[in-house]
Amino acid sequence: MRFISIFLSVFIFTACSQKEEKIPVDLTRKGFSYYPAGELAPVTSGQGRKGDNYVYAPGIRFPIESAPAYLNSQVYGVGGYLGPKGSLCSETNYAYPWHDNYCEKRSKYNMPLCSMGTGHQGVDIRTATCEKKKYYAVAVENGVITSIGTYTVQLRGISGRTYRYLHLDSATLKVKRGQNLRRGQRIGLVSNNMGSTPTSIHLHFDMKQTIKIGNSSKTVFVPPYTSLVEAYKRLLQGHP
Ligand SMILES: [Zn+2]
Repeated sequence: MRFISIFLSVFIFTACSQKEEKIPVDLTRKGFSYYPAGELAPVTSGQGRKGDNYVYAPGIRFPIESAPAYLNSQVYGVGGYLGPKGSLCSETNYAYPWHDNYCEKRSKYNMPLCSMGTGHQGVDIRTATCEKKKYYAVAVENGVITSIGTYTVQLRGISGRTYRYLHLDSATLKVKRGQNLRRGQRIGLVSNNMGSTPTSIHLHFDMKQTIKIGNSSKTVFVPPYTSLVEAYKRLLQGHP
């Protein structure tokens, strides 16, 4: 019993001290590190939702089947249309630490949880390597496919949340509208599909749910970053 309580207090102490470590935080032995939620890079890319570490989607499976994966900006990263010149396949884009990009500057989306009132509705995630149609996006929880567009697949989870997966290769999708999926089941291959104009090779992932804002309930795109950090750690630890 004494052993257990010592172990627990050491564990709690370790957990607390890790939380206070300087950024970026490295919590695994696999080199995974990430900047805090809402810390967008570069600062000109917008106002992130700093300090909101709430896990909106607890226990979800990471939306890409295998690690590593790199969550960072497509627009402001190397080769992005507002980023440093260079190849989209630059190794800088395929490296830790992660950088949140929810609320990154976008003019057209109404986003009540972003301080600008508009912004990126979700986050962008690169696969292990700069190769399209190689890595699968998978269901983050049990649910049903509610719509399939030109480059958007929507999953409604049993939690009531709606998830969107963008830029999958449409010719090789593994799902149909109305199909029930189990957590971890393959949806399609991550690609650069954005209809007639291709984008960078990445998965755009977002989550919509009903939350209370003031006295009213609103269905909004919520910050996925912290939920994904937790999901990714589970994937790295071998129990996704
Ligand atoms: Zn995106």
